[in-house]
Amino acid sequence: MNAQELPLEYTSPLTDALAQLASTVEHLGLSSGVHAMLAQPRRELMVSVPLRRDDGSVAVYSGYRVQHNFSRGPAKGGLRYSPAVDIDEVRALAMWMTWKCALVDVPYGGAKGGIAIDPRTHSQAELERVTRRYTSEILPIIGPETDIPAPDMGTNEQTMAWIMDTYSSAKGHTVPGVVTGKPISLGGSLGRASATSRGVSHIALLALASRGLDPSAASAAVQGFGKVGRDAARFMSEAGVAVRAISDVDGAIFNADGINITALSAHVDATGSVSGFAGAEELDPKDVLTADVDLVIPAALEGVITADNADDIRAAIVVEGANGPTTNEADQILNDRGILVVPDILANAGGVVVSYFEWVQANQAYQWRESEVNERLEERMSRAWHSVIAYAGAHGLTYRQAATALSVQRVVEAHELRGLYP
Ligand code: GLU
Repeated sequence: MNAQELPLEYTSPLTDALAQLASTVEHLGLSSGVHAMLAQPRRELMVSVPLRRDDGSVAVYSGYRVQHNFSRGPAKGGLRYSPAVDIDEVRALAMWMTWKCALVDVPYGGAKGGIAIDPRTHSQAELERVTRRYTSEILPIIGPETDIPAPDMGTNEQTMAWIMDTYSSAKGHTVPGVVTGKPISLGGSLGRASATSRGVSHIALLALASRGLDPSAASAAVQGFGKVGRDAARFMSEAGVAVRAISDVDGAIFNADGINITALSAHVDATGSVSGFAGAEELDPKDVLTADVDLVIPAALEGVITADNADDIRAAIVVEGANGPTTNEADQILNDRGILVVPDILANAGGVVVSYFEWVQANQAYQWRESEVNERLEERMSRAWHSVIAYAGAHGLTYRQAATALSVQRVVEAHELRGLYP
């Protein structure tokens, strides 16, 4: 999209991320120098990724890796395959990773990577070649002590296995700590695959409790039935919440009594979509976010709750399973309407928490039990939740403002202790 085609009200995730940072800098009274350092990524790499397609032709894709900050440790963050990937999106997502890692107190900075490619239009063999070529292009700047990729939208544990193998081949020995979200048999952590969803539902249940809502009397809607939404819906349903509305890229469904998630999962495994599920009615996908429920979990794309639909949200609570699903304008509207928004950097931090556990296990060459992983995950999520509530209460801030302030404060503290070199 060139600038002339942009709608007037268009804001990129980066515009929102920078505005969030600016208001946090003001709240914390930070200097303009520190503000400038936090607004700018420490390192960015743009690469072109040529792919020999199965039919022998060559396609070239744009790839990115942005390392936003290293003050608290190596950069950490996912790798996204989506046609919508561009440098500003990756910059915003990398900045949010810095805040997320600081908020749940894992010893990392933030990073993000992406390739502007639609993985659904490529064979496994093509995805393997594109992943290996991208890895070899960014190889000089990743590593277990430098920058550790993980799955994000459009990538999965197989992608991580290819990255690990390509990196290890170049180094001449196996380096399991270079990525997280690997298959279990290659040193992945038990509990990693569902960690983001487990964290989302843990936080969603805390949010319901904070509003005096009992799970067995509460209802929810989930946008997205992929890596985050699917297990989040399952955990919510297991906790007794009636999950009434669910959407995926192909359609949406509704059942006022609550959707049977086990039966829906079987249907999705068989057909590839939530559409056509016998235990619910079809719904217009845009109505999932505005469904008549207590709690909404956007768990798909960014920028889905906007000034256009924020007034129509009927839920009392929004728990951000996706990164950046609510634009700043919509956030303001929801806050003015008294709707509790639990921000992404808190709500979906479970993934990177267990990524950290996976990295620790790789460094120790030792595997933890799944119950141990889940227990430590919930403990960290609860700790972060309570710290955000306390800060928000003490300073009269929204949860997003409080979470960002706590995170930025921790990053700045690390930066100041280390000092500016030279
Ligand atoms: N992509 C996930 C996120 O946005 C996980 C990142 C990670 O585990 O490094 O939080």
